[in-house]
Amino acid sequence: MTQTKRTPHWMTALANHYDQARRQHPDDRLLIMFDIDGTIIDIRYMILHVLRSYDHAHGSGYFHTLTLADITVSENQIDELLRALPIPQQAHADITAWFMKARWSPEAIYQSHRPFNGVLEVIRWFQLQRNTFIGLNTGRPGTIREETLRSLNALGDAYRVHFPTDLLFMNPGDWDSDVLAAKVQGVRYFQEAGYRVVAFIDNEPANLAAVDAADPANEILLLHASTIFESQRERVPSSAVAGESYDLTALLPGDKIPGKVQLVWHAVNTQARIEQFLQAQVHWGEFDIRRDPARGVLVSRQRSFQSLPPTAGASEPLLADTLARLKSAGRGIKLDLRDGLATLDEVIELIQAAGVEQENLWFNGRIERLLEEGFRQLSATFPGATLQCSIDFLAPLILGAPATAKETLDMLSGWGLTRFSVSWQTLNKRQILRQMEAWDLPVNIFEIPNLEQYLKAALLLPRSITADFIHPGW
Ligand SMILES: [Mg+2]
Repeated sequence: MTQTKRTPHWMTALANHYDQARRQHPDDRLLIMFDIDGTIIDIRYMILHVLRSYDHAHGSGYFHTLTLADITVSENQIDELLRALPIPQQAHADITAWFMKARWSPEAIYQSHRPFNGVLEVIRWFQLQRNTFIGLNTGRPGTIREETLRSLNALGDAYRVHFPTDLLFMNPGDWDSDVLAAKVQGVRYFQEAGYRVVAFIDNEPANLAAVDAADPANEILLLHASTIFESQRERVPSSAVAGESYDLTALLPGDKIPGKVQLVWHAVNTQARIEQFLQAQVHWGEFDIRRDPARGVLVSRQRSFQSLPPTAGASEPLLADTLARLKSAGRGIKLDLRDGLATLDEVIELIQAAGVEQENLWFNGRIERLLEEGFRQLSATFPGATLQCSIDFLAPLILGAPATAKETLDMLSGWGLTRFSVSWQTLNKRQILRQMEAWDLPVNIFEIPNLEQYLKAALLLPRSITADFIHPGW
């Protein structure tokens, strides 16, 4: 009989199954078991890397135009790939021998292993949950335990993911020797160590079938990572859920983000947006404050009056009204002082007249507009407020010349700045955030394009996130 019922996204199935297991076993140590190759690691990068290194070492050009998309076989079926390419038959044996020798070399593992998009965030999410663990169950032999942990932890670091050695189960035999039995042994290993295995994710149908047979009570949700696999698809157990992408929006609703991240609703500049914001759960609203040259008053407005002249009849919300409205609603007010020092005294007067509590005040400004003088004035007037500037101008230095970047950050802290804003569009953002965390400097993330990216950013647990909370699903 064909299944007509619409099955949920595999990540939703995982989330539901996990929640159910948690309810049934509130105090157990729950463990989600992951295979590595083809499940966490997109093995195509390694295949491409090793084949290119063959060309490099032999002065040949067989793989110059080979791309990731051309690789549709697993690392054990390289002969199939060679047959599909215009490579002379007599070279196949030599290339295959090279490949088999080089593919699991420490160099290849370290240089060419890349995670699938979203998988490290999924792992991070579970590692953040109380009494919840990720176990690795791999067919790789124990002889490469050290390289495996080193490369996975190097990849995981920027995502705040760590794999400890006792949660890695490796094939006790040699390469490819009885992987099915080893996968079942892995389940027993974690169970005997006191974990309740609640789910198993693998790209090989046969591995899922083996674990299925060893789990008569069907406690373990089987998830088929439908990437590249060797065993027949028919062997995927009927109870398994298949998926291709580690979609965070399917795993967790937007409001399920762990605790302490402060959320700021970006650009609450119009009357309509203010009403929307006041209905929402987000505590902080951000307003771009500018002087309206025609009326001579401070208003909130996204675009400058120079770049977008006012349209007839338009009247942007007055800062004085906005302050009174948010103060009475008990909400946090983040003011982006677009005119910098030029309007600072007036801003301060209006805030004081409205009587806004300091803990509900947050200022953002560009250092070349507010200057040292402006930040120091704000810090002296509202010592309990948050003071922020963007540090994207420092981004290359934070990784390239950290000591120099740190001097500048110390200078800014000396001016009174307490929050450093990093665009989610910045190159190497995760490494930059890692360094800021190591320096114990609180970060705000902004310029987040959609819900998925918001969830990715939130899992890094920055001090705050500024985003447009108007996307579908939010
Ligand atoms: Mg695999």
